[in-house]
Amino acid sequence: MIASRLANFGTTIFTEMSALAEKTGAINLGQGFPDEDGPQAVLEAAQAAIRTGRNQYAPLPGVPALRHAIAEHQQRFYGIELDPASEVQVTMGATEAIAAAILGLCEPGEDVLAFDPYYDSYPAAAAMAGARFVPIPLQPPEFTFEDFVVPPKARVIIVNSPHNPTGRVFSREELQRIADLVIEHDLIAITDEVYEHLVFDGLEHIPLSTLPGMAERTLSISSIGKTFSVTGWKVGWATGPQPLVAAVRAAKQFLTFAGATPFQHASAAALRLDTAWYEAFSAKLQAKRDHLCDAFSHFTVARPQGTYFANVDVGTNAVEFARELPYKAGVVAIPTSVFSADPQRLAPYLRFAFCKRLPVIDEAARRLHALES
Ligand SMILES: *Cc1c(COP(=O)(O)O)cnc(C)c1O
Repeated sequence: MIASRLANFGTTIFTEMSALAEKTGAINLGQGFPDEDGPQAVLEAAQAAIRTGRNQYAPLPGVPALRHAIAEHQQRFYGIELDPASEVQVTMGATEAIAAAILGLCEPGEDVLAFDPYYDSYPAAAAMAGARFVPIPLQPPEFTFEDFVVPPKARVIIVNSPHNPTGRVFSREELQRIADLVIEHDLIAITDEVYEHLVFDGLEHIPLSTLPGMAERTLSISSIGKTFSVTGWKVGWATGPQPLVAAVRAAKQFLTFAGATPFQHASAAALRLDTAWYEAFSAKLQAKRDHLCDAFSHFTVARPQGTYFANVDVGTNAVEFARELPYKAGVVAIPTSVFSADPQRLAPYLRFAFCKRLPVIDEAARRLHALES
């Protein structure tokens, strides 16, 4: 019954692995969501918004308080100046922003490029727009990319850094290589920056739009869920030059129009937390990364530079390994190859989410270490 453009996107491995976690009582490091709520002041702001009558449709662009908070956030962290009226669009999570961007910018038959492995909504969004999805391989073990050919019908390249699932944070040099191609081939860059604040080891997240010549051709996307541990709120945004934001708005208007009004108000409060809060949160996450990664002594870990995820080379077919892991070690993880159009290249990798309470991470680490020895 499913229309042919969507027929190939069946249910994901998450469904199977979460069921397995439930059945076996294993620790679920599969799907990337935190097991703790976000900051108390932010939760309180959502309750206050509901109590004080912020419960009806928001304006299409988003509530003014949030659009101003997004503009201030871009200024505070990156020195980017935005007009909150025409250069900021609030969406139902980054997922809607990505879909609306592709629907609003691409003609049927045009190409959407993205690094592979990739977040699973990218090819689906391309398919809904009638566009062709073109993967660009990231090569293990470092998950770097070679120079790639830009096909003649390319319209958009999606750049996700910090990158899910690999945990890579693209360097300025890598971003410059992307920018050079975007400018040479007159593409539009859509950035997925949902992990922008979850960067480790003193590294820096560099928005692609801040590179020379890129501001006018980059649509920047982020959301509240990962930074503030409220993945269920689904408040996101797209920012950039007015013509690109207008394309998102044109599609979003007829997808959801508006939504989550009280959470939009609370998201404004979240973005306005002081810089010290952001730094403390990523430091805490970095410690969790280290506790998990240090559990492995035989398997090789691609220690992530950012995000919620670490990838481990288990030296065998990770799909089979993942199916047995809940029984053998009481831990659930996801084979990295499910995020790829070329699963063979990533066959031995397993993705673990470490966005869980430290005692949970430590228990998983203990079990994984015991399995290895
Ligand atoms: C979680 C995630 C998203 C989805 O963000 P929402 O705001 O929950 O829609 C988008 N891109 C990447 C890479 C993600 O990991």
